[in-house]
Amino acid sequence: MTATALTHHIARLIEETGPIPLSHYMALALGHPEHGYYMTRDPLGAKGDFITAPEISQMFGELIGLWLAEQWLQQGAPKPFALAELGPGRGTLMSDLLRAIRSVPGMDDAAEVHFVETSPSLREEQKARVPNATWHERIDTLPQLPLFLVANEFFDALPVTQYQRTERGWCERYVGLEGERFVPVLAPVPLASDALLPAAMQNAAEGEIAEISPASTAIAEEIASRVTSRQGAALFIDYGHPRSAPGDTLQAMRNHAYADPFDAPGTADITTHVDFEMLSRAVEAGGAEAHGPVEQGAFLIALGIEGRREALMRNATLSQRTDIAKAAQRLTAPDEMGSLFKVLGITPRGSILPAGFA
Ligand code: SAH
Repeated sequence: MTATALTHHIARLIEETGPIPLSHYMALALGHPEHGYYMTRDPLGAKGDFITAPEISQMFGELIGLWLAEQWLQQGAPKPFALAELGPGRGTLMSDLLRAIRSVPGMDDAAEVHFVETSPSLREEQKARVPNATWHERIDTLPQLPLFLVANEFFDALPVTQYQRTERGWCERYVGLEGERFVPVLAPVPLASDALLPAAMQNAAEGEIAEISPASTAIAEEIASRVTSRQGAALFIDYGHPRSAPGDTLQAMRNHAYADPFDAPGTADITTHVDFEMLSRAVEAGGAEAHGPVEQGAFLIALGIEGRREALMRNATLSQRTDIAKAAQRLTAPDEMGSLFKVLGITPRGSILPAGFA
Protein backbone atom coordinates (compact mmCIF):
# COMPACT_ATOMS: atom_id res chain seq x y z
CA MET A 1 0.00 0.00 0.00
CA THR A 2 1.33 3.42 -0.90
CA ALA A 3 1.41 5.49 2.28
CA THR A 4 -0.24 8.88 1.97
CA ALA A 5 -1.32 11.24 4.75
CA LEU A 6 -4.85 9.99 4.22
CA THR A 7 -3.74 6.34 4.37
CA HIS A 8 -2.39 6.98 7.88
CA HIS A 9 -5.52 8.83 8.92
CA ILE A 10 -7.88 6.07 7.73
CA ALA A 11 -5.66 3.27 9.08
CA ARG A 12 -5.66 4.91 12.53
CA LEU A 13 -9.42 5.38 12.39
CA ILE A 14 -9.88 1.66 11.62
CA GLU A 15 -7.45 0.62 14.37
CA GLU A 16 -9.34 2.75 16.86
CA THR A 17 -12.93 2.08 15.86
CA GLY A 18 -12.91 -1.07 13.74
CA PRO A 19 -13.75 -1.41 10.03
CA ILE A 20 -15.55 1.61 8.54
CA PRO A 21 -18.49 1.55 6.11
CA LEU A 22 -17.46 1.74 2.45
CA SER A 23 -19.47 4.96 2.13
CA HIS A 24 -17.34 6.50 4.88
CA TYR A 25 -14.11 5.36 3.18
CA MET A 26 -15.28 6.84 -0.15
CA ALA A 27 -16.34 10.12 1.46
CA LEU A 28 -12.91 10.46 3.12
CA ALA A 29 -10.95 9.47 0.00
CA LEU A 30 -12.75 12.09 -2.11
CA GLY A 31 -13.76 14.75 0.38
CA HIS A 32 -11.47 14.74 3.43
CA PRO A 33 -11.08 18.52 4.00
CA GLU A 34 -7.27 18.42 3.82
CA HIS A 35 -6.27 15.29 1.91
CA GLY A 36 -9.39 14.31 -0.08
CA TYR A 37 -8.90 13.76 -3.80
CA TYR A 38 -11.07 16.68 -4.93
CA MET A 39 -9.84 19.02 -2.21
CA THR A 40 -6.26 19.17 -3.33
CA ARG A 41 -6.20 19.24 -7.10
CA ASP A 42 -7.81 19.86 -10.49
CA PRO A 43 -8.36 16.28 -11.67
CA LEU A 44 -9.73 17.15 -15.11
CA GLY A 45 -8.16 17.15 -18.53
CA ALA A 46 -5.10 15.74 -20.25
CA LYS A 47 -2.77 16.37 -17.27
CA GLY A 48 -5.32 15.13 -14.75
CA ASP A 49 -6.90 11.76 -14.17
CA PHE A 50 -9.96 11.90 -16.43
CA ILE A 51 -11.75 14.08 -18.99
CA THR A 52 -15.41 15.06 -19.06
CA ALA A 53 -17.88 16.04 -21.79
CA PRO A 54 -17.76 19.83 -21.23
CA GLU A 55 -13.94 19.68 -21.43
CA ILE A 56 -14.18 17.87 -24.77
CA SER A 57 -16.26 20.53 -26.51
CA GLN A 58 -18.20 23.75 -25.98
CA MET A 59 -21.09 22.12 -27.89
CA PHE A 60 -21.99 20.11 -24.78
CA GLY A 61 -22.62 23.09 -22.49
CA GLU A 62 -24.31 25.06 -25.26
CA LEU A 63 -26.86 22.33 -25.96
CA ILE A 64 -27.58 21.86 -22.24
CA GLY A 65 -28.14 25.62 -22.07
CA LEU A 66 -30.65 25.50 -24.90
CA TRP A 67 -32.51 22.62 -23.24
CA LEU A 68 -32.81 24.61 -20.01
CA ALA A 69 -33.83 27.71 -21.99
CA GLU A 70 -36.68 25.82 -23.62
CA GLN A 71 -37.90 24.68 -20.21
CA TRP A 72 -37.61 28.20 -18.82
CA LEU A 73 -39.66 29.66 -21.71
CA GLN A 74 -42.29 26.92 -21.46
CA GLN A 75 -42.76 27.68 -17.78
CA GLY A 76 -43.46 31.36 -18.44
CA ALA A 77 -39.88 32.69 -18.17
CA PRO A 78 -39.90 33.09 -14.35
CA LYS A 79 -37.74 35.95 -13.00
CA PRO A 80 -35.51 35.78 -11.09
CA PHE A 81 -34.51 32.11 -11.15
CA ALA A 82 -31.60 30.04 -9.89
CA LEU A 83 -29.36 28.63 -12.62
CA ALA A 84 -27.54 25.96 -10.67
CA GLU A 85 -24.89 23.33 -11.20
CA LEU A 86 -23.79 20.49 -8.92
CA GLY A 87 -20.05 19.74 -9.01
CA PRO A 88 -19.14 22.24 -11.76
CA GLY A 89 -15.50 21.12 -12.15
CA ARG A 90 -13.65 23.90 -13.94
CA GLY A 91 -16.80 25.94 -14.62
CA THR A 92 -16.53 25.18 -18.34
CA LEU A 93 -20.05 23.81 -18.79
CA MET A 94 -21.63 26.84 -17.09
CA SER A 95 -19.60 29.35 -19.07
CA ASP A 96 -20.57 27.68 -22.38
CA LEU A 97 -24.18 27.45 -21.20
CA LEU A 98 -24.30 31.15 -20.26
CA ARG A 99 -23.01 32.14 -23.69
CA ALA A 100 -25.70 30.02 -25.36
CA ILE A 101 -28.59 31.47 -23.35
CA ARG A 102 -27.61 35.04 -24.23
CA SER A 103 -29.60 34.51 -27.43
CA VAL A 104 -32.76 34.05 -25.32
CA PRO A 105 -34.19 37.51 -24.50
CA GLY A 106 -34.25 38.22 -20.77
CA MET A 107 -32.88 34.88 -19.67
CA ASP A 108 -29.37 35.77 -18.56
CA ASP A 109 -30.65 38.89 -16.75
CA ALA A 110 -33.10 36.73 -14.82
CA ALA A 111 -30.48 34.07 -13.96
CA GLU A 112 -28.68 33.91 -10.62
CA VAL A 113 -25.84 31.41 -10.96
CA HIS A 114 -25.39 29.02 -8.00
CA PHE A 115 -22.69 26.38 -7.71
CA VAL A 116 -22.67 23.48 -5.25
CA GLU A 117 -18.99 22.64 -4.86
CA THR A 118 -16.90 21.36 -1.97
CA SER A 119 -13.43 21.65 -3.50
CA PRO A 120 -11.54 24.89 -2.79
CA SER A 121 -9.17 24.39 -5.72
CA LEU A 122 -11.99 23.79 -8.20
CA ARG A 123 -13.90 26.77 -6.78
CA GLU A 124 -10.96 28.92 -7.86
CA GLU A 125 -11.16 27.50 -11.39
CA GLN A 126 -14.91 28.16 -11.44
CA LYS A 127 -14.43 31.73 -10.22
CA ALA A 128 -12.03 32.41 -13.09
CA ARG A 129 -14.66 31.42 -15.67
CA VAL A 130 -17.90 32.44 -13.90
CA PRO A 131 -17.01 35.26 -11.51
CA ASN A 132 -20.57 36.20 -10.53
CA ALA A 133 -21.65 32.87 -9.12
CA THR A 134 -22.63 32.11 -5.52
CA TRP A 135 -21.06 29.00 -3.99
CA HIS A 136 -22.67 26.43 -1.68
CA GLU A 137 -21.30 23.47 0.25
CA ARG A 138 -24.59 21.61 0.02
CA ILE A 139 -27.85 21.89 -1.91
CA ASP A 140 -29.79 22.88 1.24
CA THR A 141 -28.70 26.51 0.97
CA LEU A 142 -29.76 27.01 -2.68
CA PRO A 143 -32.23 29.92 -2.78
CA GLN A 144 -35.97 29.29 -2.77
CA LEU A 145 -36.40 30.29 -6.43
CA PRO A 146 -37.44 28.47 -9.62
CA LEU A 147 -34.56 26.05 -10.11
CA PHE A 148 -32.97 25.22 -13.47
CA LEU A 149 -30.12 22.84 -12.77
CA VAL A 150 -27.53 20.59 -14.36
CA ALA A 151 -25.26 17.95 -12.83
CA ASN A 152 -22.66 16.29 -15.07
CA GLU A 153 -20.54 13.52 -13.56
CA PHE A 154 -21.62 14.57 -10.08
CA PHE A 155 -23.65 11.61 -8.77
CA ASP A 156 -20.89 9.13 -9.65
CA ALA A 157 -18.69 10.78 -7.00
CA LEU A 158 -21.18 10.42 -4.14
CA PRO A 159 -20.59 7.67 -1.57
CA VAL A 160 -22.28 4.30 -1.95
CA THR A 161 -23.20 1.60 0.53
CA GLN A 162 -22.66 -2.00 -0.53
CA TYR A 163 -24.18 -5.23 0.78
CA GLN A 164 -23.12 -8.74 -0.11
CA ARG A 165 -25.55 -11.65 -0.20
CA THR A 166 -24.28 -14.42 2.06
CA GLU A 167 -25.79 -17.58 3.48
CA ARG A 168 -26.72 -15.48 6.51
CA GLY A 169 -28.46 -12.78 4.45
CA TRP A 170 -27.34 -9.33 3.23
CA CYS A 171 -24.19 -8.16 5.07
CA GLU A 172 -22.85 -4.62 4.69
CA ARG A 173 -19.35 -4.30 3.18
CA TYR A 174 -16.90 -2.38 5.35
CA VAL A 175 -13.28 -1.42 4.84
CA GLY A 176 -10.85 -3.07 7.25
CA LEU A 177 -7.10 -3.44 7.60
CA GLU A 178 -5.14 -6.56 6.76
CA GLY A 179 -1.59 -5.78 7.86
CA GLU A 180 -0.95 -2.53 6.03
CA ARG A 181 -3.59 -3.03 3.35
CA PHE A 182 -7.17 -1.81 3.15
CA VAL A 183 -9.51 -4.67 2.34
CA PRO A 184 -13.28 -5.08 2.06
CA VAL A 185 -14.74 -7.00 5.02
CA LEU A 186 -18.30 -8.06 5.78
CA ALA A 187 -20.35 -6.98 8.75
CA PRO A 188 -20.89 -10.02 11.01
CA VAL A 189 -24.60 -9.34 11.42
CA PRO A 190 -26.87 -9.31 8.35
CA LEU A 191 -29.46 -6.66 7.57
CA ALA A 192 -32.68 -7.28 9.45
CA SER A 193 -34.68 -6.59 6.27
CA ASP A 194 -33.83 -6.16 2.58
CA ALA A 195 -36.61 -3.60 2.15
CA LEU A 196 -34.12 -0.80 1.45
CA LEU A 197 -32.74 -2.64 -1.58
CA PRO A 198 -34.42 -2.25 -4.98
CA ALA A 199 -36.61 -5.25 -5.88
CA ALA A 200 -34.24 -6.17 -8.73
CA MET A 201 -31.46 -6.74 -6.19
CA GLN A 202 -33.42 -8.59 -3.52
CA ASN A 203 -33.28 -11.93 -5.37
CA ALA A 204 -29.56 -11.80 -6.14
CA ALA A 205 -27.59 -15.03 -5.80
CA GLU A 206 -25.20 -15.69 -2.93
CA GLY A 207 -21.95 -13.78 -3.37
CA GLU A 208 -23.54 -10.95 -5.37
CA ILE A 209 -23.28 -7.33 -4.29
CA ALA A 210 -26.02 -4.73 -4.01
CA GLU A 211 -24.96 -1.10 -4.23
CA ILE A 212 -27.09 1.85 -3.20
CA SER A 213 -26.33 5.54 -2.80
CA PRO A 214 -28.49 7.11 -0.11
CA ALA A 215 -26.65 10.43 -0.61
CA SER A 216 -27.60 10.51 -4.31
CA THR A 217 -31.20 9.56 -3.62
CA ALA A 218 -31.58 12.30 -1.02
CA ILE A 219 -30.18 14.97 -3.38
CA ALA A 220 -32.31 13.85 -6.35
CA GLU A 221 -35.44 13.89 -4.18
CA GLU A 222 -34.69 17.36 -2.80
CA ILE A 223 -34.12 18.81 -6.28
CA ALA A 224 -37.33 17.21 -7.53
CA SER A 225 -39.31 18.65 -4.65
CA ARG A 226 -37.93 22.14 -5.34
CA VAL A 227 -38.75 21.83 -9.06
CA THR A 228 -42.27 20.76 -8.09
CA SER A 229 -42.96 23.48 -5.58
CA ARG A 230 -41.15 26.42 -7.25
CA GLN A 231 -41.00 25.48 -10.98
CA GLY A 232 -37.83 24.54 -12.81
CA ALA A 233 -36.15 21.62 -14.54
CA ALA A 234 -32.96 19.61 -14.27
CA LEU A 235 -30.65 17.30 -16.18
CA PHE A 236 -28.58 14.60 -14.48
CA ILE A 237 -25.88 13.23 -16.79
CA ASP A 238 -23.61 10.39 -15.79
CA TYR A 239 -21.97 7.10 -16.58
CA GLY A 240 -24.44 4.46 -15.47
CA HIS A 241 -27.13 1.89 -16.07
CA PRO A 242 -30.83 2.47 -16.78
CA ARG A 243 -32.10 -0.31 -14.48
CA SER A 244 -31.18 -1.32 -10.94
CA ALA A 245 -29.20 -4.56 -10.88
CA PRO A 246 -26.79 -6.26 -8.50
CA GLY A 247 -23.07 -5.66 -9.05
CA ASP A 248 -20.00 -3.96 -7.59
CA THR A 249 -19.22 -0.90 -9.74
CA LEU A 250 -16.65 0.80 -7.49
CA GLN A 251 -13.67 1.92 -9.57
CA ALA A 252 -10.71 4.26 -9.38
CA MET A 253 -8.90 6.25 -12.09
CA ARG A 254 -5.43 7.70 -11.92
CA ASN A 255 -3.69 9.27 -14.96
CA HIS A 256 -6.45 8.04 -17.29
CA ALA A 257 -5.93 4.41 -16.20
CA TYR A 258 -7.83 2.13 -13.82
CA ALA A 259 -6.38 1.91 -10.32
CA ASP A 260 -7.15 0.01 -7.11
CA PRO A 261 -9.72 2.01 -5.10
CA PHE A 262 -8.21 0.65 -1.86
CA ASP A 263 -4.68 1.77 -2.62
CA ALA A 264 -3.44 5.26 -1.73
CA PRO A 265 -6.84 6.89 -1.02
CA GLY A 266 -6.90 10.57 -1.91
CA THR A 267 -4.66 10.15 -4.96
CA ALA A 268 -7.16 8.59 -7.40
CA ASP A 269 -10.69 9.45 -8.44
CA ILE A 270 -13.10 6.92 -6.95
CA THR A 271 -16.50 6.57 -8.61
CA THR A 272 -19.36 4.15 -9.12
CA HIS A 273 -21.81 3.75 -11.99
CA VAL A 274 -25.00 5.65 -11.41
CA ASP A 275 -28.20 3.62 -10.95
CA PHE A 276 -30.66 5.71 -12.96
CA GLU A 277 -33.67 3.66 -11.92
CA MET A 278 -32.96 4.56 -8.31
CA LEU A 279 -32.53 8.26 -9.24
CA SER A 280 -35.81 8.21 -11.21
CA ARG A 281 -37.64 6.76 -8.24
CA ALA A 282 -36.19 9.45 -5.99
CA VAL A 283 -37.31 12.14 -8.46
CA GLU A 284 -40.81 10.71 -8.42
CA ALA A 285 -40.79 10.51 -4.62
CA GLY A 286 -39.94 14.23 -4.68
CA GLY A 287 -43.10 14.86 -6.71
CA ALA A 288 -41.53 15.69 -10.10
CA GLU A 289 -41.54 13.80 -13.38
CA ALA A 290 -38.46 11.84 -14.50
CA HIS A 291 -37.81 11.48 -18.25
CA GLY A 292 -35.50 8.82 -19.61
CA PRO A 293 -32.76 7.98 -19.01
CA VAL A 294 -31.76 8.26 -22.65
CA GLU A 295 -28.27 7.74 -24.03
CA GLN A 296 -26.12 10.85 -24.22
CA GLY A 297 -25.46 10.36 -27.95
CA ALA A 298 -29.15 10.21 -28.86
CA PHE A 299 -29.89 13.14 -26.56
CA LEU A 300 -27.25 15.43 -28.10
CA ILE A 301 -28.28 14.47 -31.63
CA ALA A 302 -31.94 15.22 -30.84
CA LEU A 303 -30.89 18.63 -29.48
CA GLY A 304 -29.07 19.41 -32.73
CA ILE A 305 -25.38 18.73 -32.13
CA GLU A 306 -24.93 18.17 -35.87
CA GLY A 307 -26.15 21.65 -36.77
CA ARG A 308 -24.02 23.15 -34.02
CA ARG A 309 -20.98 21.27 -35.32
CA GLU A 310 -21.55 22.57 -38.86
CA ALA A 311 -21.93 26.14 -37.59
CA LEU A 312 -18.66 25.93 -35.63
CA MET A 313 -16.86 24.40 -38.59
CA ARG A 314 -17.85 27.24 -40.87
CA ASN A 315 -15.72 29.68 -38.88
CA ALA A 316 -12.84 27.31 -38.20
CA THR A 317 -9.44 26.56 -39.71
CA LEU A 318 -8.80 23.19 -41.27
CA SER A 319 -7.14 21.71 -38.17
CA GLN A 320 -9.85 23.14 -35.91
CA ARG A 321 -12.42 21.47 -38.13
CA THR A 322 -10.85 18.08 -37.53
CA ASP A 323 -10.93 18.73 -33.77
CA ILE A 324 -14.58 19.80 -33.84
CA ALA A 325 -15.60 16.71 -35.81
CA LYS A 326 -13.62 14.46 -33.46
CA ALA A 327 -15.17 16.07 -30.40
CA ALA A 328 -18.73 15.62 -31.71
CA GLN A 329 -17.88 12.00 -32.47
CA ARG A 330 -16.46 11.45 -29.00
CA LEU A 331 -19.56 12.85 -27.30
CA THR A 332 -22.06 10.87 -29.38
CA ALA A 333 -20.53 7.65 -30.80
CA PRO A 334 -21.84 4.48 -29.10
CA ASP A 335 -18.30 3.12 -28.66
CA GLU A 336 -17.15 6.37 -27.01
CA MET A 337 -19.30 8.41 -24.57
CA GLY A 338 -22.55 8.17 -26.54
CA SER A 339 -24.03 5.02 -24.99
CA LEU A 340 -22.40 4.59 -21.58
CA PHE A 341 -23.44 8.06 -20.50
CA LYS A 342 -27.12 8.57 -19.81
CA VAL A 343 -29.29 11.64 -19.35
CA LEU A 344 -32.21 11.89 -16.95
CA GLY A 345 -34.58 14.86 -17.35
CA ILE A 346 -36.59 16.30 -14.46
CA THR A 347 -39.61 18.56 -14.98
CA PRO A 348 -42.71 19.48 -12.99
CA ARG A 349 -45.37 16.77 -13.25
CA GLY A 350 -47.66 17.08 -16.26
CA SER A 351 -45.17 18.99 -18.47
CA ILE A 352 -45.09 18.19 -22.17
CA LEU A 353 -42.32 15.78 -23.15
CA PRO A 354 -39.04 17.75 -23.05
CA ALA A 355 -36.66 17.91 -26.03
CA GLY A 356 -34.37 14.90 -26.36
CA PHE A 357 -36.62 12.45 -24.48
CA ALA A 358 -38.96 11.39 -27.30
N1 SAH B 1 -19.14 18.58 -13.80
C1 SAH B 1 -17.73 18.73 -14.06
C2 SAH B 1 -16.83 18.05 -13.03
C3 SAH B 1 -17.06 16.59 -12.74
S1 SAH B 1 -15.98 15.99 -11.46
C4 SAH B 1 -17.41 18.27 -15.46
O1 SAH B 1 -18.25 17.63 -16.06
O2 SAH B 1 -16.31 18.56 -15.94
C5 SAH B 1 -16.99 16.04 -10.01
C6 SAH B 1 -17.26 17.40 -9.45
O3 SAH B 1 -18.09 17.27 -8.31
C7 SAH B 1 -16.04 18.18 -9.00
O4 SAH B 1 -16.26 19.55 -9.23
C8 SAH B 1 -16.01 17.87 -7.50
O5 SAH B 1 -15.24 18.76 -6.75
C9 SAH B 1 -17.48 17.93 -7.18
N2 SAH B 1 -17.91 17.18 -5.99
C10 SAH B 1 -17.60 15.90 -5.65
N3 SAH B 1 -18.24 15.53 -4.52
C11 SAH B 1 -19.00 16.59 -4.16
C12 SAH B 1 -19.91 16.83 -3.07
N4 SAH B 1 -20.17 15.89 -2.17
N5 SAH B 1 -20.52 18.03 -3.01
C13 SAH B 1 -20.27 18.99 -3.95
N6 SAH B 1 -19.43 18.82 -4.98
C14 SAH B 1 -18.79 17.64 -5.08
